[in-house]
Amino acid sequence: MINFKKLSNKYDTPLYVYNFDEITKNYNELKNAFKARKSMLCYAVKANSNLSVLKHLAKLGSGCDCVSIGEVKRALLAGVDKYKIIFSGVGKKDSEIREALQKDILMLNLESEEEMLRVEKIAKELDKNARISIRVNPDIDPKTHPYISTGLHENKFGVDIDTAKKMYLYANKSKNLTPIGIHYHIGSQIVKALPFKEAALVMGNLLRSLKAANIDIKFFDIGGGVGIKYKDEITISLYDYAQNIFEALKNEDVTIVCEPGRYMVGNCGYLLTKVLYEKANDKKRFVIVDAGMNDLVRPSLYQAYHDFEVIGANDDEKSLADIVGPICESGDFLAKDRQMPKTKHDDLIVIKSAGAYGFTMSSNYNTRCKVAEIALEDGKDRLIRRRENFEDLIELEKEYI
Ligand SMILES: *Cc1c(COP(=O)(O)O)cnc(C)c1O
Repeated sequence: MINFKKLSNKYDTPLYVYNFDEITKNYNELKNAFKARKSMLCYAVKANSNLSVLKHLAKLGSGCDCVSIGEVKRALLAGVDKYKIIFSGVGKKDSEIREALQKDILMLNLESEEEMLRVEKIAKELDKNARISIRVNPDIDPKTHPYISTGLHENKFGVDIDTAKKMYLYANKSKNLTPIGIHYHIGSQIVKALPFKEAALVMGNLLRSLKAANIDIKFFDIGGGVGIKYKDEITISLYDYAQNIFEALKNEDVTIVCEPGRYMVGNCGYLLTKVLYEKANDKKRFVIVDAGMNDLVRPSLYQAYHDFEVIGANDDEKSLADIVGPICESGDFLAKDRQMPKTKHDDLIVIKSAGAYGFTMSSNYNTRCKVAEIALEDGKDRLIRRRENFEDLIELEKEYI
């Protein structure tokens, strides 16, 4: 049991708390599911990019999937092996491509024909050979929230199969491009095995047709998207997930790359917040807390559900309430229409499953300082990002006033 009260007294609130021992457990469980084949886990940095989280994963042997040069640099700084770093993303700038090639990471994951030509041109200027993969959009419906579905033709990601084939043939002939990977990622928070299986079958067929055309694909990158339990979801079996991939691959000799983000860190994280006030009118009861949508945007952005606990509350007298933040937006809520005990000033609320897409999506809206982050490991707590202060926020403006 984590002593949240003690942590909130020591570090103040709002506060992000990550249990590193749980991250280790998740890493090992997923790695184990793939143990019958060559595999590499490339953690999706965008889920939680704190340097200490990345360093912890690097020590376990993890690689990283990055979507900006900033994330690539974080991964390298945290000690991730450069040959385990993949750079994805639909809109890479020339400067980002150049820097990624100079840093000699494992591969760039291309998302359009035009991008391929840009990468070829920049690689030529640098007299380099760019290792690439191509992100294919297999047109599979992941049955998740539309904002986090990515593998349908109506989504902006990747290219369709015919375009991909054309691109592979072109890249294979180019002096400055070497296609080594094939990539897809159909969406996030997927809790059904079928979409993963369907996508793997489509992509397994593509892999074989590329190999038949003498394109030496070494990495079969299945993306991320494995869902976690936020409320009452029945999540997929990792064993079945891996078996479906093995079946789709048949005997092809490739390294399976998996890019878990949410799965790796989501349920390892908590957002601690304190009650400021309660108020009610004839329609609604509001519990106003010191964390807002700028600290955790998922409820506002995706209507996401987060479980929570009011520490030390008397559970007898529950009634419906919204947990809302101090931000000047009606969309500023952390929970809506939920049974809650009566609270008072300074009561502690622990928002659960906040380890992924929590801090990384936070902002300084309303000139609010980003909160501190701490790690729990082997029964000890330590600061891994200090709380911002007002000086930090005005630093880049004050000289121009
Ligand atoms: C976001 C993303 C991931 C991670 O998604 P999760 O749902 O957090 O596992 C993996 N790969 C790519 C290319 C992504 O864009």
